[in-house]
Amino acid sequence: MEKDYYKTLKVEKNASKKEIKNSYRVLSKKYHPDLNPDDEKAEEKFKEIANAYSVLSDDTKRLNYDNFGNENGNTTHNPFNHMNYEDIFSTFFNERNNNLKKKKGGDIRLKIELTLEEIFTGVNKTIKYKKRDKCNPCSGTGGETKVCDNCKGNGFLVFVQNTPMGRIQKNVKCNVCNGEKNIITKPCKKCDSSGTLVNETIFNFELPKGIMDSEMLKFNGKGNSVKNGVEGDLIVLIVEKTHDTFKRVGIDLHQRINFTYEDLVNGNDSVEVVTIDGKIRFKVKKGTQIGTILRIPKKGLKRGNNIGDMLLEVWLKIPENIIKKEKNEIN
Ligand SMILES: [Zn+2]
Ligand SMILES: [Zn+2]
Repeated sequence: MEKDYYKTLKVEKNASKKEIKNSYRVLSKKYHPDLNPDDEKAEEKFKEIANAYSVLSDDTKRLNYDNFGNENGNTTHNPFNHMNYEDIFSTFFNERNNNLKKKKGGDIRLKIELTLEEIFTGVNKTIKYKKRDKCNPCSGTGGETKVCDNCKGNGFLVFVQNTPMGRIQKNVKCNVCNGEKNIITKPCKKCDSSGTLVNETIFNFELPKGIMDSEMLKFNGKGNSVKNGVEGDLIVLIVEKTHDTFKRVGIDLHQRINFTYEDLVNGNDSVEVVTIDGKIRFKVKKGTQIGTILRIPKKGLKRGNNIGDMLLEVWLKIPENIIKKEKNEIN
């Protein structure tokens, strides 16, 4: 019979990942061979703790251990040995769902860089990337197959247990076909029976206006294929390129404008300003202070039904001839 990993790590059966990690840290320090030289018992204990942690810190292994009493999910012994009634019920219900769930291929993560102009107008992008596709000759099966005799093509074996609470049925993944229902009799040479091949894919998609830096778009089924399963997803991460003139503040755009001394003192009814949507003219009031933020409505980015503003930070332009003159006086 296996050791009780929870007892080894001095945690409850329902301990969180963090609790397990913390307890492991404390215990592994306590029994570390470097701190307990020539103490064989401490070394043994240290190994036990490390082994328990390697199982309980891994989601799949921990689940197998909880369900079957070992981390590999072997069912050579009675799978109910290590369970209490509560566990039997929860596993029973979960297992039914697991059998309905198809295997899913891995997700693919890509990054695309966008200019602020592209974000403003929205853009159509075509990307090229490599992914695992279903192998053609074997249509993703890995070769010629026959129905698994061990599970009669169910992919799982049914265990029935009589308990004081009645008969309980539990489905356990078939260890001969590994839950795949079929066994490969003639492996596909093209994919080496993996059922998938790496191909270059071209994918075209629309990016909405006003998309944010670090936003992620998910395209279902555009990821890797997996033998006898469904495709994973494609996840595209948006990276916004820095703009020479505008700084983005949500959907507003900020820029610093160098006004002339005359414009600020006397005001100007028609100052030309560049926005992301082209040049416009607007009014600066008499006596506008340096550092003031002027807001031009609806000249920012669009996102959904919202339109941002253009924020102009008032700055003063020192005429070149004054700078030159000052320099000459100093020299
Ligand atoms: Zn089978
Ligand atoms: Zn193939």
